[in-house]
Amino acid sequence: MKKLILLLLFIPVLSFGQDETRSDGPYIFIEKNKLIEKKIINGKVFSRRLNTSLYDTTYSPEKSTFNKIRKIAALSDIHGQYDLLIELLTNNKIIDENLNWSFGEGHLVITGDIFDRGDKVNEVLWFIYKLEAQAKNKGGRVHYLFGNHEYMILYNDLRYLHEKYKTSSTLLNLEYNELYSDKTIIGRWLRSKPTIIKINDILFTHGGISEDFISYGDFNIEKINNTMIDSIPEGRAEINKSDFHKMYYSTKGLVWYRGYFEKYNPDITDSDISKILRLVGADHIVVGHTTEERVVHLFKNKIFGVDSGLKYGKYGEVLIIENKGFFRRTRFFRGTLSGELIELVSGRE
Ligand code: ZN
Repeated sequence: MKKLILLLLFIPVLSFGQDETRSDGPYIFIEKNKLIEKKIINGKVFSRRLNTSLYDTTYSPEKSTFNKIRKIAALSDIHGQYDLLIELLTNNKIIDENLNWSFGEGHLVITGDIFDRGDKVNEVLWFIYKLEAQAKNKGGRVHYLFGNHEYMILYNDLRYLHEKYKTSSTLLNLEYNELYSDKTIIGRWLRSKPTIIKINDILFTHGGISEDFISYGDFNIEKINNTMIDSIPEGRAEINKSDFHKMYYSTKGLVWYRGYFEKYNPDITDSDISKILRLVGADHIVVGHTTEERVVHLFKNKIFGVDSGLKYGKYGEVLIIENKGFFRRTRFFRGTLSGELIELVSGRE
């Protein structure tokens, strides 16, 4: 009995030895020929030099178009909810019990907004960073797309930042956006990410594609991705000055648009959506950014909304897309938090 009491007393010490609310990182800074890792443990900063061979320091922009992909999973707006993300991916067999890739040659698309609100942003970023390499090794892919919150952080717009990260930035004696500058591993990696991609006949982007955006210039997704990334060093002030950037970062732009959802745009019709799809040469568009209680399908499966409210930390879903079998018919499913698959049938919205 005494032993048991002792053991019970000891458990909290073991599991709470590191206070998660006061621990953060690692942040890995690239200096000339060195890598410096900084971690915050229980409110104190620990620095050490790392072997330069541990991390790549160059990340080239990824391809934006993929064809003949048989399995796709898409989710969005994680906002630092690491534990819920792991539960969702495990139960839907995208990762295994040891958090390793188990989706084979499938593609996992995260349509933006890992940053802000929650307090496990770095846990999510490093996990996706690891998963991306594992997926590639198995012939699969992880695509992490920029959302408005990624751009906000890189512009040091900290309106939605969790208190914990304000403390980290103070402790590390850097502005928050400097923790993700191009002199850091995650910062460089982020700058290789797209804002929009196309897999098979499906476009994926954070907010959506408005007709105004399409009519603004030629719709070339490689070019759009380059333009978005190239604008980062210019900063918010510069962006506000030019018409071009105003279109890219306005509520009509890819990362802020909400126009497919009736609650924001009651006048949108099926023929408006068909016209957009015709103009961009796709059959479906998958978006995040507008929060619903589950994965939703709109306009006869032309539009899918995958921001299923993970940000509240309680529930979330993943969209599963299958394109296999003899007829190669594309089928869409809601993957629930417990891993149940519910088919989304066109016309049964
Ligand atoms: Zn968003």
